[in-house]
Amino acid sequence: MKKLVGCDKLLESSEKHDIIKESLIKIVGEQWYSDFPEELLIYSYDMTENDPSLPEFVVMPRTSEEIQKILKFANETKTPVVPFISGNNVGGLTIPLKGGIVVDLKRMDSILHFNEDDMYVIIEPGVTFGHLHAFLEKTNYRYCYPFAPPFTSVIANALLDGLNNLSLRHGSMNEWINGIEAILPNGDLVKIGTCCAWGDNYDLWWSRNPMPDLLGLFTSWQGMTGIVTKMAVQVWPRRPIRDWRIVLSFNVEETYKFVKTLTHLEILNDILFMSIETVKMIAGVPYGKAKYLEGEPRWVCLLDFSANTKLEYEAKLDMINTAFKKLKEVDPKANMTNLDVMEKFYGKKVGDIKNLPVTIGPMLEYGGLTWMGTYMTTKTEAVVNGIKTAFDLIDKYRFEKCLYSRSMKGHHYFAFRFLLRFSKLQEGETERMQKLQEELFNSLFELGAFPYKTPARFAKQILKRADPNWVNLLKTIKSTIDPNGIMNPGRWGLE
Ligand SMILES: Cc1cc2nc3c(=O)[nH]c(=O)nc-3n(C[C@H](O)[C@H](O)[C@H](O)COP(=O)(O)OP(=O)(O)OC[C@H]3O[C@@H](n4cnc5c(N)ncnc54)[C@H](O)[C@@H]3O)c2cc1C
Repeated sequence: MKKLVGCDKLLESSEKHDIIKESLIKIVGEQWYSDFPEELLIYSYDMTENDPSLPEFVVMPRTSEEIQKILKFANETKTPVVPFISGNNVGGLTIPLKGGIVVDLKRMDSILHFNEDDMYVIIEPGVTFGHLHAFLEKTNYRYCYPFAPPFTSVIANALLDGLNNLSLRHGSMNEWINGIEAILPNGDLVKIGTCCAWGDNYDLWWSRNPMPDLLGLFTSWQGMTGIVTKMAVQVWPRRPIRDWRIVLSFNVEETYKFVKTLTHLEILNDILFMSIETVKMIAGVPYGKAKYLEGEPRWVCLLDFSANTKLEYEAKLDMINTAFKKLKEVDPKANMTNLDVMEKFYGKKVGDIKNLPVTIGPMLEYGGLTWMGTYMTTKTEAVVNGIKTAFDLIDKYRFEKCLYSRSMKGHHYFAFRFLLRFSKLQEGETERMQKLQEELFNSLFELGAFPYKTPARFAKQILKRADPNWVNLLKTIKSTIDPNGIMNPGRWGLE
């Protein structure tokens, strides 16, 4: 490998490009390297309103050893590195803000181990929700799934603190992680969790307690501290009976209180609180047409529950019915039904909610999708106010009011999202969406909502408002782990 001296000053030079190219090809082989403009273009943008930016190289390694070599080389030559799996994070997080090398991890797609006693699987970053679902179908265990397409990564979702359809019971997806293997920017390989002592024994990756929890050096860092190459994630026993109920209602405050009541009973797997526009979008109503019509139910709650016996199922249903009766006393036109009836009314696609992971086509087929995704306090006033404030803003910018929210971890906190479709082909629409996002961020932050999968421009604003000691700690950790600032530079408002 040729030594690059002071190559950071020659960033754009063809000499530096050729030297990096030669070294990367030596590591991954010619067929897993590209600097074709057409291929680089694919990695320069995502579906969101975030501005595109080109990488200079793309590589697709297969092993941890190859990643060690890539990062060591990138560190020596101060070349930016962006970890990438499918780029579907909906935050612009894999757009290479400073160019450099995209490390596409799709080829690392093995499910390495299944420990049935301690209930976890060890997977590589390219393992998708589709892979994991197909694997677990042959067992008595289940993972949980987002609304994201089946071709997105389980590891990226867990690292980003995602919210899936068992998050009411078990919290955001980082809480499902037992341990990881990761490569630091200097090429060192580290193991976090019980695997720090028994790394080679896949049967002993059973927890990340009781020891200083270094996992926080990787979760929600958006690939800024290293590349995770293996992860043990928990799976849970599948209960033989599973069912859904849909509540259609009119009064926002009373519906939210009903959600709260149900979560405190601790009988559900998941509860979604949506606006009718979200259901219409899922059902396939074209972009721009998912609107609330006077007189129809305004809010939709999806209740997902399961049981081991018929008796348990009936007891749960009885508790749901009792809670619903109370809602009806204050929201008399509210109605409770099941997914089969919803399917008859809104079409087959709505029933897909039962079959996650699936691609919800109408969310993706118009070329633009973004969200103001936040975690926030569960206070009724904040949630009701947040919906009103956001709906007014979305109206002002003429987009669809698709609320999609979820109670997290027994309703200890709330996932509060507005799914926003837009068309990049329409003149000025991306800029209009950028303005809406800016206003949504500012108003919801004031109400106690913190953006997750935080786009860089909002992260910068958060750093300005956050406690300076927190910001200093963040910067100290980043510069200690990554002194040359090569890992996904520009994320979290850090250069
Ligand atoms: C229609 C739609 C619906 C969605 N619904 C949900 C939902 O309900 N809940 C939810 O939580 N998410 C949802 N998502 C978001 C997203 O798909 C998931 O969180 C997803 O699993 C991310 O995987 P990815 O392959 O797209 O990751 P990428 O976008 O490729 O990567 C995400 C981030 O992780 C970093 N990264 C990737 N791999 C590594 C690694 N090995 N080590 C370190 N850093 C790494 C990247 O640099 C980037 O910052 C949705 C997305 C879409 C498009």
